[in-house]
Amino acid sequence: MEEISADVEAHFPEYLALLKRALSQPSIAAEGQGISEMAELLAEDLRAVGFAVEIVPTDGAPVLLAHMEGQRPERLLFYNHYDVQPVDPLELWEFPPFEPTVRDGKLFARGASDNKGAIYARLAAVESYLRVRGTLPLGLTWVIEGEEEIGSVHLHQFVEARKDALKNLLGCVWEAGGKDARERYEIALGCKGILYVELRARGAARDLHSANAAIVENPAWRLVWALNSLKGPDGRVRIPGFYDTVRPPTPAQRAALADWEFPEDEVRKLYGIDRFLDGLTGMALKERLIFGATCNIDGFHSGYGGPGSKTVLPAEVVAKLDFRLVPDQEPKQVVEALRKHLDAEGFSDVEIAWWEGEKPWAGDPEHPFVQTAIRAAERVYGHLPAILPMMAGTGPVYLLCGQFGTPMITAGVGYADSRAHSPNENIRLQDFAQGIKYIVAMFEEISGWLGKGD
Ligand SMILES: [Zn+2]
Repeated sequence: MEEISADVEAHFPEYLALLKRALSQPSIAAEGQGISEMAELLAEDLRAVGFAVEIVPTDGAPVLLAHMEGQRPERLLFYNHYDVQPVDPLELWEFPPFEPTVRDGKLFARGASDNKGAIYARLAAVESYLRVRGTLPLGLTWVIEGEEEIGSVHLHQFVEARKDALKNLLGCVWEAGGKDARERYEIALGCKGILYVELRARGAARDLHSANAAIVENPAWRLVWALNSLKGPDGRVRIPGFYDTVRPPTPAQRAALADWEFPEDEVRKLYGIDRFLDGLTGMALKERLIFGATCNIDGFHSGYGGPGSKTVLPAEVVAKLDFRLVPDQEPKQVVEALRKHLDAEGFSDVEIAWWEGEKPWAGDPEHPFVQTAIRAAERVYGHLPAILPMMAGTGPVYLLCGQFGTPMITAGVGYADSRAHSPNENIRLQDFAQGIKYIVAMFEEISGWLGKGD
């Protein structure tokens, strides 16, 4: 490890230069800007290190699939994305978002933290490892998509086309992560799932004078009543069967959660709230945040919402809802239960206009692959990392890992003030260097783990 660490330090200026070149190339998925250029540039950088790279087309952005053989037949999966968030509001940036700038030990650019920094840390780790040891300890499969920031809309096409490349993998190093506000390194092992639906109710053929409310049904009331049937003031979702498949966290997942710190005071201040839902605090709050399923109204639109008054009886009403799902809830089951429930409550006229879903996946902190990630973090960061069995948000973890039984860990180069998705996104050069060494340490820990089995 010392030899490779020295190599990382000796070549750090080159690694930083490569990262800066990638950060100079815009790749905004939401605007379709620079996507194919970025895919080409990245493929070039991967090939230069020795990867066999395929650019796999989808109906959206292409997905990079890279392979490298190692000493052992077992394979590790890396997952990243080469797209970034839009830069608005541009006027709040201290430096132009696509002119990477180093100031006070920090590198500022859109994508520095989310997640080109992580990509180039991994690439640097492979390069240094190869220079010192000749070959990787195990095979590597690397999937880098270009639509993560718009919901990985076409990733399923890639997975369908290249399923064989995703089977029998030892573990996956996921794209995000870094250090928390107290400088503790954090590793997550999964993601909540999601069901996103649009509910629609229709009334008259067109908006009417509201005097007609005396004799014509208002669809906005229909939808309010329908929504009212979904959840009670006690917070419980009232769709029959909604909780039937929920699996309680294991003792190991609970223990990890107990050790994970959630900065309640800071978050309350940041959100401008006096208390959390139901007065939750401590372990109960953490358990609800990480292992609680939700039913959330994202928006409700109908009739007139402009200045002053307009007496109108709207013809149509739409509500957008998302359900964050936990193991083993499935979006398809939930949408079917929702349909059944609406029918049973007398709302068969309320349409579920469209839906999209992703299954949840929570990891086991005691899995030997996760243990290698913990030991690697201890070596590089000098402390035991915090382990989050599942993130409160959603990503395509089930699609790429869960369905194939591949355990995952996150690894990133961010910190609490990295400002992902915001102006002045940045990483600290120190974290970038540690992020490289962390991947090297992962290779070594995995190699040690597999070696024991021989
Ligand atoms: Zn992002």
